[in-house]
Amino acid sequence: MSPTDLDRLSSAIRDVQDFPKEGIVFKDITPVLGDPALFRLAIDGLVEFIDGQRVDKIVGIDARGFIFGAAVADRIGCGLVPVRKKGKLPWKTHEISYALEYGEATVEIHEDALIEGETVLLVDDLLATGGTSAAALELVKRQGGDIIGAAFFIELGFLDGRKVLEAEAAGEFPVKALLTY
Ligand code: AMP
Repeated sequence: MSPTDLDRLSSAIRDVQDFPKEGIVFKDITPVLGDPALFRLAIDGLVEFIDGQRVDKIVGIDARGFIFGAAVADRIGCGLVPVRKKGKLPWKTHEISYALEYGEATVEIHEDALIEGETVLLVDDLLATGGTSAAALELVKRQGGDIIGAAFFIELGFLDGRKVLEAEAAGEFPVKALLTY
């Protein structure tokens, strides 16, 4: 992806101060989604990360990870597996809890979502502290998924989520983001 294309994407992202709570600068991606050329460009960038590797399933994280994940899955012709916040998935699930700044959260995956050995690309809109993605990767590993990468539209580099995910990856797969702040 060219620097000009990355600039076009970056310029469209809207910083919303103090959302959802004071002190957070929320990266609003809806202007990218609402512009067909920019949305396609963002998906182009995520697809480039795959670099011709075989992907059986995209694992998308609740909720904006579904938007990017579904578009990538459709583009490359693979399946989509949702990792959701606890209580949203209708069938039998595996779950994992992880620490948040205050308290903890739980995410779930359907227990039959992956067949052992299937290749998986994790997709989310944004990598912040890495807690959510690390939990999702752990669920994929428990089901015997073969993770080929973790791909993000945006990375907030100052929150060091990359370190958390790279520890989880242990050199086995790359962590990639289109735009880093
Ligand atoms: P984390 O587990 O800290 O990496 O948080 C990642 C999840 O929280 C992603 O699914 C994002 O959608 C969301 N998120 C965290 N921080 C922000 C932010 N500043 N702007 C937009 N989304 C965020």
